[in-house]
Order: sequence, then structure tokens, then C-alpha cells
Amino acid sequence: MPARLLVVVKSGGAAAMPEWRAAFAHALPEAEVRMWGDPEIVPAAVTHALVWEPEAGALARFPNLRLVISTGAGVDHVLADPDYPRHVPLARMILPETRDGMAEYVGMAALMLMRDMRTIARQQAEHHWRIPPEMPLARRTRVGVMGLGALGLHAARYLATLGFQTSGWSRSAKTIEGVTTYHGMGQLPGFLAQCDIVVNLLPQTADTVGLPDRARLSLLPRGASLLNAGRAAHVVTADLLALLDEGHLHTAMLDVFDIEPLPQDSVLWSHPSVVVTPHCASTPSRTDRAHRAAALIRLAETGAPIPDLYEAARGY
Ligand code: NDP
Repeated sequence: MPARLLVVVKSGGAAAMPEWRAAFAHALPEAEVRMWGDPEIVPAAVTHALVWEPEAGALARFPNLRLVISTGAGVDHVLADPDYPRHVPLARMILPETRDGMAEYVGMAALMLMRDMRTIARQQAEHHWRIPPEMPLARRTRVGVMGLGALGLHAARYLATLGFQTSGWSRSAKTIEGVTTYHGMGQLPGFLAQCDIVVNLLPQTADTVGLPDRARLSLLPRGASLLNAGRAAHVVTADLLALLDEGHLHTAMLDVFDIEPLPQDSVLWSHPSVVVTPHCASTPSRTDRAHRAAALIRLAETGAPIPDLYEAARGY
């Protein structure tokens, strides 16, 4: 077993390494930090991996890995590797900054959708002065959050503090002050039927891929809007575009895409009812994430419980 700590990093490429190295030098000075793919790495010496979208089979080449840490909150990009070494604990990157950033993005989006800012932005581009017929208010607007996990729960609480009539849907039953809660597939139709704005913050699992499909999105009230800040695979794009084109849905604000960066020829860029943001809802700085990774590695090394671990039995 290797005695020293050797952390390999795959996130942001060579350009990001000085920042990762500087942060680890401060937070975990006893560790050697190497860039993913460095030909001088001896696989048996690697103890920890901090990764985003590792190539299939790559992690399995490190026989003495003690912990894998995702550089993001989601781990679907690691689990996509069929050879991922499942005996090695896999930690999600959840910082206070991740929660706050997502909550503020969701709050901003809900206010923008409520005020129909995409129409106002288009009017500005066309030099067209048109005052909206009615002034909407958060306290008259119903926002529902799908997924009440690390990020969804915080976002729902934030929406409630902004004054929205807030609800949330999760797998298991919950009681959250100021938030009306629904759970399980049986309560999904009732949840969707009362959302003027629905926010997707589910994790990507076998059960959640394609879950907000055409039939389920049709259960939203006519004129409702969707915000997807979870994963692109959750929402069937063709279904979404059909419902927008038919006028059942008003606006889709999307932060996550099947291919990122979004290809130049994607219809989503210029669809009149779609707002595109470049997967920027919540990405804490590399320095903050390296410090968090260092803290997780220290916990793992002392045998203490590691927070935010992926649980294979539930799939997230
Ligand atoms: P979590 O794994 O913490 O969320 C789990 C939540 O989803 C729980 O409430 C869980 O229910 C619920 N859930 C899981 N499966 C089901 C199901 N089948 N039916 C109903 N509810 C279900 O995820 P996070 O909060 O960490 O992340 C949310 C999403 O945000 C992820 O997709 C992540 O990848 C994405 N993300 C996006 C970012 C961006 O910048 N756009 C940044 C960071 C994350 P229960 O409570 O009962 O367990």
C-alpha cells in the first residue's frame, strides 16, 4: 500500500493545473498532485482522484485508490464508466457555495420566468415598448422543485424566503417549513398540476432519466415554465420543444445540455421560448473545491465518516 498521498486531477485540463496545485499546496501540503494522464504517474502510487468525466476504464487502472471525488455535485459522469471501481468510495462535491449558488440561480430564474424577462429582452432587441398587462407577484406564483437533495432543498427554502408559493417533490416523504411537500410517483401528477414554474434538480439515475417526459410535462398547467438545472438527460428535448411550440409551456430555461458546449447548430440557441445559460448555475471556484477535496481526503485518511458519498443502493 502506498504510504504517501498522490492525488491525480482531471478537471479543466492543463490550464487549470496551476490553480489546483496552488490550492492543494495550501490545503494538503503533504500530498503530491499530478495531472491526469501524466506519463510519469506510477498507477500503484495513486491514492486519490479528483475528476470530471474520467475516460471509461481509466480509474480502474489505479489499484490503490482510496477515494474518488467528483469536481461537481453530480456523479453520473463517473458512473457512466462501466469499469468504475465500485469498491472505492465516491464523494460528491457539495460546498456551502454550491448550495448558495444554486439557490440564487434558481431564485433569479424563478423571478425572471415570473416576470417573463425573455419577452422583455426580445422587445428591447426590437426597440419595442410594451408594458406587461399584469404585474405578477411571487406570493401569487407557485414554484415546485423536483428533487429535494443537497441543492433542491436549499433552493426550495430560498424560493420560500422570496415569497413564492413553494412546493417540492422527492422520493421519500419530508416535512419542510414553508414548503408543501409531495413524494413518490403516486404524488407526482398532483405536484405537477400545481406548478406555475417547475424546477428540475433531480440527480441523474436510471429512474429519473426522461422522467419529465411529454406526458408528465403536459400535467403542468397551461402557460407554465420549466427550469432545468439538473441534467439534460432528465428532459426529453423533443417533448419539451413540442409543448413549447404548442403553447402548453411558456418558457424553458435550460442550464444543462446533452452536449456541452451547446453545439452551434442546436435549435435551442434561437428557439423563441428557450433561455440558454451555459451550465453556470453553480460551480464554486477551483480553490474552494480543492479545499473541500483536501478536507474529504483528510477525513478518509483518518477513517472518519465522509459526507456526501454516492450510495449505490439508491443510485445517487
Ligand atoms: P441529490 O442527489 O442530493 O438529490 C437527491 C434528491 O432527489 C432527493 O430529494 C431524492 O429524494 C430525490 N430523488 C432521487 N431519485 C428520485 C426519484 N426517482 N423520484 C423522486 N425523487 C428522487 O442531488 P443534488 O441536490 O446534489 O443535485 C441536484 C442536481 O443538480 C443533480 O442532477 C446535479 O448533477 C445537478 N447540478 C447542477 C449544477 C449546475 O450548475 N447546473 C451544479 C451542481 C449540481 P429523497 O430525498 O427521498 O432521497
